[in-house]
Amino acid sequence: MRQSHLFTKTRKEAPKDEIAKNAQLLIRAGFVHKEMAGVYSFLPLGLRTLNKIVQVIREEMNAVGGQEIVMTALQDKSIWERTDRWDDAKVDNWFKTEFKSGGETGLGITHEEPLTRIMSSYVSSYRDLPRMVYQFQTKFRNEMRAKSGIMRGKEFLMKDLYSFAKDAAENQEQYDQMRAAYIKVFERLGIGHLTYPTFASGGIFSPFSEEFQTLSDAGEDTIYVHEGKKIAVNKEVMDDKNLATLGLSREELVEKKAIEVGNIFHLGTKFSEPLGLMFKDEDGTEKPAVMGSYGIGPSRVMGVLAEVLSDEKGMIWPKEVAPFAVHIVSLGANADVIKEADHLYETLKDNGIEALYDDRDVRAGEKFADADLIGIPTRLVISEKTLGQAAVEVVTRATGTATMVPESGIIDHLKQ
Ligand code: ATP
Ligand code: MG
Repeated sequence: MRQSHLFTKTRKEAPKDEIAKNAQLLIRAGFVHKEMAGVYSFLPLGLRTLNKIVQVIREEMNAVGGQEIVMTALQDKSIWERTDRWDDAKVDNWFKTEFKSGGETGLGITHEEPLTRIMSSYVSSYRDLPRMVYQFQTKFRNEMRAKSGIMRGKEFLMKDLYSFAKDAAENQEQYDQMRAAYIKVFERLGIGHLTYPTFASGGIFSPFSEEFQTLSDAGEDTIYVHEGKKIAVNKEVMDDKNLATLGLSREELVEKKAIEVGNIFHLGTKFSEPLGLMFKDEDGTEKPAVMGSYGIGPSRVMGVLAEVLSDEKGMIWPKEVAPFAVHIVSLGANADVIKEADHLYETLKDNGIEALYDDRDVRAGEKFADADLIGIPTRLVISEKTLGQAAVEVVTRATGTATMVPESGIIDHLKQ
């Protein structure tokens, strides 16, 4: 894409009322637009990155047999009453409204209830299990806190997968598969080194659920990290009894701030029983399916990447989720330079390499500052100097290192 066509522009200042670093950076770089507190629109660069995060998650969910669907935002009150999650006294963050034709509805905060009902029309025998079903969908939660930018939206994207099994053992197999898939997801998203499976409250078979927590000073959670085992314990479950259960001792753990990027937990038959998701087992008896739930917030992940993989100049996107693989920057108005940069842009396109091409007629300093802010991992600079050497200057955003690569070898260099 030619940058001169991009409708967004970078900004020197973030809105005064925006206090979160992730939103400040993403707004300044033109990735998101703030609508209201905790409500953000995704602009062309931001949408590209969000879609890439989604795609990484989708590939890993499909790899372990997840089947993708999309459910509705509008919720049928009656099924939420069956699990006692409709009442505002029980769940306090619903956005609710009324149908003109009469009756109430709410915007989905999560989707255990509707998916359990959908599955109940297809699952009737042990032969129909196990299954794993997921979606990417906008969730709505009337969140009180709105200090974390896109990491805590009132409207946000979630990948939610639900597993359905015949018994606890089969459920545990699904859980282990998903846990391994999550580790791969966060590796590919460039935060594997900072992300810890973390014991937290909310377990059904075990006393714990597991959160995936990414270390960040902007995090709202306090966790206790075991570096050697690459696991952590959430402060909410830190006591002597739980540490003993986990075989950990307090001295081995280091207190850190972190943000939850995902979580996985056993649901048992908490939803299948009240919503009637029953199957006939091999021995002829009727049993409720055993369920699990597995969430990741792709929009929160984007905010976390902006928090933890940035420097004072701007963002530094990991390769898999950068809005473009390379940023071509042409310097000056020399016709030969422009011709060479145009040619490079076309060559990359022909080779399937996505490039943002800064073809604007602005000063070099402004181009470099914008490129640093936008944070595409590899920059290709074309100038009178590089032309004289029949080369392209390749700059790595993360380290600032620059090397001259002969023009003829640039595609091979980028593909390595
Ligand atoms: P938190 O503890 O941060 O409030 P949660 O425990 O309510 O989150 P879940 O309901 O399990 O989160 O949601 C699954 C995932 O969705 C979370 O791990 C997180 O990545 C993401 N998520 C949850 N709430 C938000 C939000 N308000 N904005 C953006 N992402 C969110
Ligand atoms: Mg949580």
